[in-house]
This record gives sequence, C-alpha cells and structure tokens, in this order.
Amino acid sequence: MKRLHYALLVAGFAGCGWLLSGAVHEVGHAIVARGAGLDIVHIQPWALLGQAHVRLAGETTRSWYAAVDISGMLFTVLVGICGTVGASLLAQKWRAVSLSVWLFIPMMCQCLAWVALPVAIIFGASVSRDDVTNFMQHTGWHALAVLLIGLALVTSCAVVLRWAFKRGRTNQCFHATTESLA
Ligand SMILES: [Zn+2]
Repeated sequence: MKRLHYALLVAGFAGCGWLLSGAVHEVGHAIVARGAGLDIVHIQPWALLGQAHVRLAGETTRSWYAAVDISGMLFTVLVGICGTVGASLLAQKWRAVSLSVWLFIPMMCQCLAWVALPVAIIFGASVSRDDVTNFMQHTGWHALAVLLIGLALVTSCAVVLRWAFKRGRTNQCFHATTESLA
C-alpha cells in the first residue's frame, strides 16, 4: 500500500513537472524573443489548454531567430538541471523536499527531442515545422551538428541524474521505504 502511495506521489509530481515543463519552455522562448527586440503578441503556456505556444511579431536577425528557436528547450533543461541539483541538496536537510526532484525530471527530457529529430532528419524523415527544423533553417547547420548539441545536453542530464539518484539512494528520496514515507 505504501509503495502504491509512493508511486502515486511520484506520478503526481512527474505529471505536474510535465505541465510545468511546457510553461517554462514557452517562457524561455518569450525571454529571448524580448532580448531580440521582438514583440510577444500572445502566450499560451499550458499544454492542457491546447498546444502551448508563443506568438511573436517583429523582425530580427537569423542568429536571433535561431536563439529564440533553441531557447525554449535550453531554458527548460537548465531549470530541470538546477532544480534537480537544488532538490537533491535540500533533500539532505529536509526529507519532504526529496520527491520534488520528480518535478524537474520531465524538464530535462526535452533535450531528447534534439537527438530524436536530427536522427530522423538524417534518415530522411520529413519533420513538420518545429523548434529543431526552424533552428536548422535559421542557422543553416546540418542535422549532425544539431545532433551533437542534443547529445551534449542528454549526456549532461544523464550525469546530473546519475549523481541525483546516487545521492537519492543515500537520502532514500527515490525509494519507497517505510522511513521515506513516514
Ligand atoms: Zn518551442
């Protein structure tokens, strides 16, 4: 029963994390778009209310457009990494914080798209317009270069997660034990 309780809590945190990851992604696009001098016409950050998106107006350089394209994912992965490290460190002091690590794991998962999509493009798949294809168009970079960015991010997230899980085993934040559920 306690294991089920724990699993439900993890699923709840991960679900909230997934919802938040979409919002953080759109805020990331919006921040860099403002830096690029673009206007934010409309922002809808919640995936539950339809497709999350930010609508921009104005003109900027191709480099700025490329920065806007990648900023949603980069900002989310960064928040995911910092949140995971922060929650793991705080969990040592306050055990109640430990489960909040699961809020940040879905955020880190966004970099997986920057591996999967370039691979699909390399193998000839036609991918609809999204951040990855827009980024490739604005930079003129080959899918292989974008794949390297994705792989570097996935590796960084894997290192952080490995560290957090190792720490979690000591803090028992990833394991259903009588103590951690008390
Ligand atoms: Zn995006």
